[in-house]
Amino acid sequence: MTVGLVLTAFAFAIAGRRLWWLNRLAMSGQPAPERIAAARENVGRDVATEATEVLGQRKLLKWTVPGVAHALTFWGFTVLLLTIIESYGALFSRRFAIPGIGHWAFIGFIEDLFAVAVLAGLITFAVIRLRSDPHREGRGSRFFGSHTGAAWLVLGMILLVIVTLLLYRGAQINTGVFPYAHGAFASQIVGHWMAPLGSGVNSVLEVVFLLGQVAVVLVFLAFLVYSKHLHIFLAPVNVLFSRRPNALGPLEPMRSNGKVLDFEEADPDTDVFGLGKIEDFTWKGLLDMATCTECGRCQSQCPAWATGKPLSPKQVILDLRDHAFAKAPYLLASSDEEREKLPDAVKAEAGRPLVGSAEVHGVIDPDVLWSCTNCGACVEECPVDIEHIDHIDGMRRHQVLIESAFPVEAARMLKNLENKGDPWGMGAARRAEWMTELDFEVPVVDGKIDPDVEYLFWVGCAGALEDRARKTTKAIASLLHTAGVKFAVLGPAETCTGDPARRIGNEFLFSMLAQQNIETLNEAAPKTIVASCPHCFKHHRERVPAARRELRGDSPHPAAGPAGGRGKAQARRAGGGEADLSRPVLPGPAQQGVHAAARDPGGGARRAGHRDAPVQGTRLLLRRWRRADVDGRAHRQADQHRAHRGGPGAVPGHDLHCLPVLPGDARRRGQREEELRRGEGDPRGRRRGPAAGPVGEPGGEPGRRRRH
Ligand code: SF4
Ligand code: SF4
Repeated sequence: MTVGLVLTAFAFAIAGRRLWWLNRLAMSGQPAPERIAAARENVGRDVATEATEVLGQRKLLKWTVPGVAHALTFWGFTVLLLTIIESYGALFSRRFAIPGIGHWAFIGFIEDLFAVAVLAGLITFAVIRLRSDPHREGRGSRFFGSHTGAAWLVLGMILLVIVTLLLYRGAQINTGVFPYAHGAFASQIVGHWMAPLGSGVNSVLEVVFLLGQVAVVLVFLAFLVYSKHLHIFLAPVNVLFSRRPNALGPLEPMRSNGKVLDFEEADPDTDVFGLGKIEDFTWKGLLDMATCTECGRCQSQCPAWATGKPLSPKQVILDLRDHAFAKAPYLLASSDEEREKLPDAVKAEAGRPLVGSAEVHGVIDPDVLWSCTNCGACVEECPVDIEHIDHIDGMRRHQVLIESAFPVEAARMLKNLENKGDPWGMGAARRAEWMTELDFEVPVVDGKIDPDVEYLFWVGCAGALEDRARKTTKAIASLLHTAGVKFAVLGPAETCTGDPARRIGNEFLFSMLAQQNIETLNEAAPKTIVASCPHCFKHHRERVPAARRELRGDSPHPAAGPAGGRGKAQARRAGGGEADLSRPVLPGPAQQGVHAAARDPGGGARRAGHRDAPVQGTRLLLRRWRRADVDGRAHRQADQHRAHRGGPGAVPGHDLHCLPVLPGDARRRGQREEELRRGEGDPRGRRRGPAAGPVGEPGGEPGRRRRH
């Protein structure tokens, strides 16, 4: 008993000291009062989130095999808390049983069932790690860049916890002090194996393995708080304070010391402008870093990583975490004198630029920072709700607004947005050109919208100015016209929503453009806005809260929501047959809410004779469209869509949504076809990076289909 209690006190002291240090480090970050307020105001929602995400393991179970293995381990350890109580009780009394339930056969059965389940989970994890060994698979492994040694150590410790548990319980059965007469099937089997040793040896083994069990649990506890397995404690906290419904919505406004930054009054010398150093992160940002499990799910789904670019969302979080931990003594020092006395290594770490190339020993390389497409796959995948995009875009904000350091292509785009109101610098006058190619007149709003007009069709920059996207715009306008829907457009009065500027980090330009649009829309005062561009749709529905009072967000596609529901968008072909109710193909999880709307055309649209055009799930879409880019198979995917939609009744032009996503693929496809004509090249397409290969796609590498 004494040995057990001394070990316990020692382990709790180590773990407590580390947790206190982590708490101080997190609190050295910027305040985030909005997170605390959101948690306080939405208790019911937070309880439901904890129940589904933490207890229900919702995100983990999206990947069936590793998800089930993790769920078994997680639930197993929750149930096995009972056995830890029993172990400690046995230190005091050999015949200890949990008061009230300690002799129920059901409890003994459940404990053993989950002990076996944890063993099954461990075997699965071991197989997954062996099959996805980063030393063999390189960037193709989701564990590439993770601390695999520590992961194996933890698997070994969990194994020891279960093994010592079953051994001391088996010995207890043989010495007659086991609290459960029936039900504990695994312990009984182990006891059966140990029975030939005799009761004397079993008495000794009972004590040895009981102390072994307590020791392993305590060593495990102390190790946890120094390793990535800290997520066992931090994940529920991180999930609680994460953005809801998730961090895929609009970017948060810039904040300094917890207050939203007012550009008119902000002072770059005293206010925080984006994330320029590790202490500019909020405590929630620092909590994100400490919570990362290094599972690599984000990395495995990141299109930048998959196409051979230097960005891995996991590595970004790990690099930030390592830097925060290494700089912590500097951040936590109470005075300049104390900082002066710190080791040189700590002072060197404190002097590293947060964003900088290898030459200047930067924490995050600029190439990493600017490789992010803001697609949101990492946020969507992360089982502990880490908000990668907020961190990446926060660093971009500082680079753009304070350092004026950003790629030359972005500079051109930002200048065009500022001067001409669109990313290509084509100017407002050309926004009306597409209308001249139609055989009917599209009403253009001048001032206040006509009260008879039900919908304002927000065309968007690409829809108005980009050649192929204009086909989509004309197709939608034709559909609305054919269906007799009264609609109008803003024409030259429309300007970019500012979303591209915001995603690049120029929050100042974003506010200017957003404000300009709000004023235009306030003057027009439309009843409902419809938009074919998912980015524009999200902007109007979510990113301009001031406009939401007046502007009721509607379905991204006129035929997919209320309009279709009222039967106004039924298109009849000239031949009399019913048409497909087309639904948009959206580019990925960043437009998640839009996508969900697109998948539900509303009851009214499901009438006899109509077929719903196929819409893929968000994650499948990401894999098909983004990962198709990986080895240049977008053309095949596009052909499949065309083939699928080209059947009887199809309305041409429906698969043209978001074509601006694809020009690179189209170009590569052209190059490949040219090479093939000349007898060069590989007809399957050329791979651009070692991680190439669409996961689970027909024709993809068999070895890359699995997700572990
Ligand atoms: S948002 Fe997309 S591109 Fe950016 S890090 Fe996440 S997965 Fe990668
Ligand atoms: S950021 Fe999230 S998904 Fe990525 S490795 Fe960490 S825990 Fe896993």
